[in-house]
Amino acid sequence: MVIDFRSDTVTRPTPGMMEAMMQAKVGDDVFGEDPSINELEELAAGMFGMEAALFCPSGTMTNQVAIKCHTQPGDEVICDESAHVYQYEGGGIAFNSGASVKLLPGDLGRITAGQVLTAINPDDPHRANTSLVCLENTANRGGGSCYDFEEIKKIQTICKEKNLAFHLDGARLWNALVAKKETPQQYGEVFDSISICLSKSLGCPVGSLLLGQKNFIKKSRRVRKVFGGGMRQAGFFAAAGIYALQNNIVRLAEDHEHAKKIAAAISKKDFVQQVLPVETNIIIFELTGKFTAPELVSRLKEKDILGYAIAPNRVRLVVHLDISKEMTERTVHIFAQL
Ligand SMILES: *Cc1c(COP(=O)(O)O)cnc(C)c1O
Repeated sequence: MVIDFRSDTVTRPTPGMMEAMMQAKVGDDVFGEDPSINELEELAAGMFGMEAALFCPSGTMTNQVAIKCHTQPGDEVICDESAHVYQYEGGGIAFNSGASVKLLPGDLGRITAGQVLTAINPDDPHRANTSLVCLENTANRGGGSCYDFEEIKKIQTICKEKNLAFHLDGARLWNALVAKKETPQQYGEVFDSISICLSKSLGCPVGSLLLGQKNFIKKSRRVRKVFGGGMRQAGFFAAAGIYALQNNIVRLAEDHEHAKKIAAAISKKDFVQQVLPVETNIIIFELTGKFTAPELVSRLKEKDILGYAIAPNRVRLVVHLDISKEMTERTVHIFAQL
């Protein structure tokens, strides 16, 4: 039995999800005629109290479409230095939007209102026009850390005052909502746009959604087409998304519990310098030097446990829908013996 902690994208559809996909009614979504996609977009927008949503093939696309719609070439985007939009989207902010980025050193991927305020360029023709602030919740490189909602509200106030757009990369927002007992509506009220993932955490094979007000989503639909993301009978995937939104959110608490158990076992090891605080489903730990991260990852692989070396001395394990209680216990056992 291989226990795969490389990412929460490695899940396979469950029988219930497969059944929902098989039953999906589909049509040509570029014509706006796929009933399953229309239903998914309405459902998701409704959950967040936002006017509209757009189904895209990936979270990179939802983020990049949003950034394109919020900025003009030459503008500047503010985000944390470890943000996915900057680190892991192939330089897309420059490539797609011709915008530059102001990177802030946050606390485990979380930036503060004070930092944002000082990062906004003055209205001066020498300087790039700051037009967008992007947050990430949970923060991937921060070990699945969650924002304090009060800080988000403070950042929103600054965005309003300074006339900046406010985007959330919520690839794992569901994990934050469950861990912090927050609601999607709260988030819908403060952000201009939100990207949520159906594939991470929720177990769908494909798909992310961009949420926003009607005009914004209308513009996003055009940009999605330009980016090559207009899909046809993709309702089979939307049906998986509807199933996931209805069935796979509450259970995330289990993943968080599993992650905490595994983290506790890891933190006892003499080769571990520190484990980042585990708030959700991601465990990131730093090694003392007895092994490098790639060495530890290959030792784990010999025991059929798959992880990911995210830095020369850092390993990441991600818990998800396909990690059972038994697999968690086995992982704890293997770490104890390592
Ligand atoms: C995975 C991820 C995305 C988008 O990823 P895709 O693989 O393009 O769907 C965006 N933001 C964060 C924080 C992520 O972890």
